[in-house]
Amino acid sequence: MASKVDDTHSPNLKSWVESANISDGDFPIQNLPFCKFRGAGNARAEIGVGIGDQILKLSVCAEHGLFSGETELAARSANLKSIMRLSKSDREHLRKNLSEFLSDEHSALAVADWRESAFVLQADVELVLPCEIGDYTDFYASVFHATNVGSMFRPDNPLLPNYKHIPIGYHGRASSIVASGRSIRRPNGQLPPPDDGGEPTFGPCKNLDYELEVGAYIAQGNRLGQPIGIEEAEAHVFGLSLLNDWSARDMQRWEYQPLGPFLAKSFATTVSPWIVTIEALAPFRCRPFERPKTDPQPLPYLNSEGNQSAGGFDITLEVLLSSSKMRKENIAPIKLSEGTFRNMYWTLAQMVAHHSSNGCNLRAGDLLGSGTISGPEKSSRGCLLELTWDGEFGRPVPGTQRTALELPTGEKRIFLADGDEVSIRGYCKAEGYQRIGFGTCDGKITASIDS
Ligand code: MN
Repeated sequence: MASKVDDTHSPNLKSWVESANISDGDFPIQNLPFCKFRGAGNARAEIGVGIGDQILKLSVCAEHGLFSGETELAARSANLKSIMRLSKSDREHLRKNLSEFLSDEHSALAVADWRESAFVLQADVELVLPCEIGDYTDFYASVFHATNVGSMFRPDNPLLPNYKHIPIGYHGRASSIVASGRSIRRPNGQLPPPDDGGEPTFGPCKNLDYELEVGAYIAQGNRLGQPIGIEEAEAHVFGLSLLNDWSARDMQRWEYQPLGPFLAKSFATTVSPWIVTIEALAPFRCRPFERPKTDPQPLPYLNSEGNQSAGGFDITLEVLLSSSKMRKENIAPIKLSEGTFRNMYWTLAQMVAHHSSNGCNLRAGDLLGSGTISGPEKSSRGCLLELTWDGEFGRPVPGTQRTALELPTGEKRIFLADGDEVSIRGYCKAEGYQRIGFGTCDGKITASIDS
């Protein structure tokens, strides 16, 4: 099931694109993430591959005959879904091709007289959404997050009995997904009555939060009515990116029962523009989160040997925050938390298998969010709702006050203020392999309408 480590992951591989060879860069030749970008002026957006500080334009490579068959047609397209729809073996072959073109050994591209026309500096383009996202589903796969949030919203009953049997998710809104860098307007909405009684009100959200998540883009989809088995599930994943599921907690608390989140989530979701392919992640696979012995085993449709041995991904994730005052005073962003994707209770393969188990068809370019990635430690809590809460894991402290975070300027935060900028970063490291990174997923809060 899992993609294998091969020559394209060799730590000895270097590129003739010099900027790809700096240590600790996000885009060495071992990564080769996809993006969609728009050049200067009103240029048409096109698809490319990140290498060092450059983007390799796939259409230019295709015009000069570097690809063949289905891959050539897909590379000529301005739609990344054409690449996503390729078979797993064509996608693996494309990665091998790209690695050869960019390698400092035997590269036909390095010596081509048209090579300059095939590259553009990342700093000179606008990185846009990788594709038009048809459907977006957000899961809830961290048991630490689910238990913490459950403790706050339902102190008597934090983790509902279905959690350890079923990957919980809800259908999100695809139309409001934006690429990193777009500002996020504070939503207006219906706010719950105060604790001491009264009526609900309508106005600017007062408890605006981020959620640290990983996003997965679907590759080839499945036919309506034809579930994807757990063993094949990962062949249907194109790659991963960073995702911020902006959340209006006051609106959420008031609206989420009985049908789940609605307007508290649908006003905006930010994704990083780079998609790191599932093939690039092969060296960073790991055993998934180990369930306590007393937990139920997953039902057979969510269980396989491959998933049990290597269904996890060791991706380190960080959240950084800067306020407008910090930026004015030239103070660097502060790190709010650091966690790892390997801590998730449900794996990517289980999410895909479960999502399609009723016959629901997934389509190329659909986006699955992992759910907030929180770990067992306080320092790995993936949203402010958890970070500024006094409760210890699984044990809420009734009646306690929320504890504000203090910024270097002396400003205090329980939730986000206008002007705050949240940045998510992610990278993978493993002994004997080159580090690869995900770029950044940034968004800055602007004031609500009419405020
Ligand atoms: Mn979420």
